[in-house]
Amino acid sequence: MTSAPLSNSTAHWRALDAAHHLHPFSDTKALNAEGVRVITRAEGVYVFDSDGNKILDGMSGLWCSQVGHGRHAIVDAIAQQLHQLDYYNTFFKTTHPGAAELAAAISEVAPAHMNHVFFTSGGSEAVDTVLRMVRHYWASLGKPEKHIFISRRNGYHGSTMGGASLGGMKPMHAQGGLPIPGIIHVAQPYWWAEGGEMSREDFGLYAAREVARAIDEAGPENVAAFIGEPIQGAGGVIIPPANYWPEVEKICRERDVLLICDEVICGFGRTGRWFGAEFMGVKPDLITFAKGVTSGYFPLGGVIVGDHFAEGFIEHGGDFNHGYTYSGHPGGCAAALANLKIMHEEKLVDRVRTDIGPYLQERWLKLAEHPLVGEARMVGLIGAMELTPDKATRAAFAAEEGTVGLICRDFSFKEGLVMRAVRDGMILAPPFTLSHEEADELVATAWRVLDLTHAELIKRGMMVPVPRVPARATASA
Ligand SMILES: *Cc1c(COP(=O)(O)O)cnc(C)c1O
Repeated sequence: MTSAPLSNSTAHWRALDAAHHLHPFSDTKALNAEGVRVITRAEGVYVFDSDGNKILDGMSGLWCSQVGHGRHAIVDAIAQQLHQLDYYNTFFKTTHPGAAELAAAISEVAPAHMNHVFFTSGGSEAVDTVLRMVRHYWASLGKPEKHIFISRRNGYHGSTMGGASLGGMKPMHAQGGLPIPGIIHVAQPYWWAEGGEMSREDFGLYAAREVARAIDEAGPENVAAFIGEPIQGAGGVIIPPANYWPEVEKICRERDVLLICDEVICGFGRTGRWFGAEFMGVKPDLITFAKGVTSGYFPLGGVIVGDHFAEGFIEHGGDFNHGYTYSGHPGGCAAALANLKIMHEEKLVDRVRTDIGPYLQERWLKLAEHPLVGEARMVGLIGAMELTPDKATRAAFAAEEGTVGLICRDFSFKEGLVMRAVRDGMILAPPFTLSHEEADELVATAWRVLDLTHAELIKRGMMVPVPRVPARATASA
């Protein structure tokens, strides 16, 4: 006799999920066949699934959980706010204390020249806001022809029409009629895969000058802005050569093109500075943020606006015909304020820069000694490792790209560590509260996962190298 699954069992939730829930970035048919993982609770740096497995959350959820899971102070602050004022809008000449206080609190931690904030519900909406805000800015200064955005191939800027268009993800462009017009995608500063014979420094300059080339080809009088993540996150934690960002900034300034940093991942301490722009040594005109601003306890994002831009925008812009119902939602503002309070009190950004960051980096970089790892990289608490069948030539695997990454990812979950696979590499971004012991556990698990993956690849005859095509050859693709 077969019995119906218990109402609090994995089988029950899997069945409901398969029957009714369409997942983001997923093949529903394949997912339903395999059976989805059910996460039921979280505490500190760990998440727990419905079968009782304890898994170290090496990705901070989706890059969100700066202060770790289960922080009652944030939950209580949200509850208290919603008891007082559950919802009101910030359109029509209205504000509320939380929105005003959060705008000030963000201005305080933002780079010194940035003192205004526009709120959204998340990162994609922040990116769409920038697109409209910047085009409106130039138009209101009498330069409507300055409308083109330059962004990078393999950049990620969210999933809305504007965000996915500015992003350089080919599989996303392939669906839904993207990209929208007025966007030029240029080379990414991804030395490992595209640097070829160039040194890192030469490649950094090369990738920056591709930005100049694109602007000059389009005509600087037609180009509104350049947008990029200080460190590409979803694209594979691509840490550019140190000369890249300063050179891009110089190129933009010389051509009167605005500089925008998409800090949805890097912002709020991930690099050991409050913002990735500071880590890279540049002064952007606008910053987009989301994720870590609330540590994921409530959806909230926004745009931080530099003083020079704000001056022109406020003086000449008139009505900005743009906004979201949940722009500055009281619950999100309360979550962000409580999250920032914890980050200040526990000095978590300093901790990433001077304590747990260097501690984990030292151990993570040693993974490059594993026979399967061609490069391990990390700044602050954001890192990656590249898997390769031949370190000397930085070769790719002969199997379809991503096959090896997924094998490694599956071992990692089974061994109790969330690492995400991007192509045939693994990426990591743990909470800032990670202890030294937890960091040791994380790295020990990563070694074990690499051994298991390596043995599996040998068993399947998959350690077969194919050469990569260097950037110059792909520059116009
Ligand atoms: C996640 C992300 C976004 C999109 O944010 P959502 O909150 O998912 O809309 C945009 N830009 C970057 C760099 C991101 O990592």
